[in-house]
Amino acid sequence: MHEAGIANTILEAGRAEAARLAGARLTRIGVRVGVLSGVDLQALEFALLAVRVGTDLEHVEIDLQSCPRRNRCVSCGYEFEAADSDEPCPGCAGEKMELIGGNELELSFVEVDEG
Ligand SMILES: [Zn+2]
Repeated sequence: MHEAGIANTILEAGRAEAARLAGARLTRIGVRVGVLSGVDLQALEFALLAVRVGTDLEHVEIDLQSCPRRNRCVSCGYEFEAADSDEPCPGCAGEKMELIGGNELELSFVEVDEG
């Protein structure tokens, strides 16, 4: 993964969101980064701070949120945070899991100043 490229994509997405709210000034961008996304949180934060220098987004706060792996039990549907893929279901001890979280790399919110 190339964090600088991802950082640019995130800033572009934030800018596009703000553009939909005509005249609003972007003040904060929230990003969800799953532990399985292959992105290093610190490297991404560093890249975001670097690529926005000298742009219209230089003042924008960036809020990176790490998301844990989440499994859903195929047998009973129980959803839980798991440290690894082999963790059995806390509900029924089932071992077949579906991955439902942990590979996110997306905007979670943008905040704008409409004044
Ligand atoms: Zn279960």
